[in-house]
Amino acid sequence: MILILSPNIDSNSHEYRRLMEHISKMPNIQTRLHKEIGTQQQLIEIYLVGDTSQLLLEDMQHLPGVERVVKISEEYRILGRHKNDSRPTFFHYNGLRFGQDSLHVFAGLCAVDNPQHVEQMMKALQENGLVCTRMGAYKPRTNPYSFQGHGKQCLPYVFELAGKYGIKVVAMEVTHERHIDEIKAALELTGNPTGIMLQIGTRNTQNFELLKKVGQQQDFPILLKRGFGITLEESLNATEYLASEGNRKVIFALRGMKTNMGDPHRNFVDFAHVPVIKRLTRMPVCIDPSHSVGTRDADPNGILDIMHVIAQGVIAGANMILVDFHPAPKEALVDGPQAMTLDELPYFLEDIRIARQAYEDRLALIRSKD
Ligand code: PEP
Ligand code: MN
Repeated sequence: MILILSPNIDSNSHEYRRLMEHISKMPNIQTRLHKEIGTQQQLIEIYLVGDTSQLLLEDMQHLPGVERVVKISEEYRILGRHKNDSRPTFFHYNGLRFGQDSLHVFAGLCAVDNPQHVEQMMKALQENGLVCTRMGAYKPRTNPYSFQGHGKQCLPYVFELAGKYGIKVVAMEVTHERHIDEIKAALELTGNPTGIMLQIGTRNTQNFELLKKVGQQQDFPILLKRGFGITLEESLNATEYLASEGNRKVIFALRGMKTNMGDPHRNFVDFAHVPVIKRLTRMPVCIDPSHSVGTRDADPNGILDIMHVIAQGVIAGANMILVDFHPAPKEALVDGPQAMTLDELPYFLEDIRIARQAYEDRLALIRSKD
């Protein structure tokens, strides 16, 4: 059960103290406090955990300082969508709004290789009106002899170039808590020219100690990729790890599941789950067509499978697209064969616009029914 207190309630007030005193007397109930500090107001939420089955909603609603009560099931307490749950399905970061109703495109390099390619990429994004990108500096590789990413050494030029070309958010995977400090240090060194979205890769979805550390920081939002060989429930619990440590600015990414049933795609595309994630949780949903499909194969008309699955995800309401591009895919150090090229960018965006329009038309249609 969540008690949502009146906005801006003072934790030194008589009302607040009476409430806490009352709660402390409830048998077998533990509390967990969450403060949401917004630009306009501060919200305090008190999570009651333990034996809450005896608590009556009406009683709780009348406690001092309580504005609303949400009865939650055990599943996905913080990020889940519960009955009569009017908590937000969006967050703001660096001037952008990420929600279950918006759509952002994060096109960029799977792995940063050199400053020239980073600059070509950023320039093309700006020319096409995009303000987000992906840039891999820390690469989790299956083979220990494969290129592992340039790590912290490339961060200053990546951030400076992002700032130069008006990029507001760079999605960047971290595989160790140390990387968060390295990113912070490089941002400071370069004068905070851009924002960062920390990415948890599919292989780290159950690295609980990493999840806790990433969840404890509030500077950056988090993109968590679905684990490719675990259940959806297990992956959604991974996002709860982040939220229970304090960070609720979380986006859930579908990136395909590992199974030979998905052949000839690299993974079995799971974008049919876009509406499922929206139903179960309040998180925006990202799709990653590059790591799902993994090839540049096309249909007989020339439409890439990557473009088809993007359209499928967007028409079902996806809120973010994370996609590999490269100015010279043959020279890419990671995932060149699945990368799209810069001259495809205008076409790619137009195809997405068509799919998004279709989604909006579908929304208007269902709404016109009532
Ligand atoms: C990536 O996005 O660069 C990546 C490695 O993805 P995943 O964790 O989904 O394999
Ligand atoms: Mn990749």
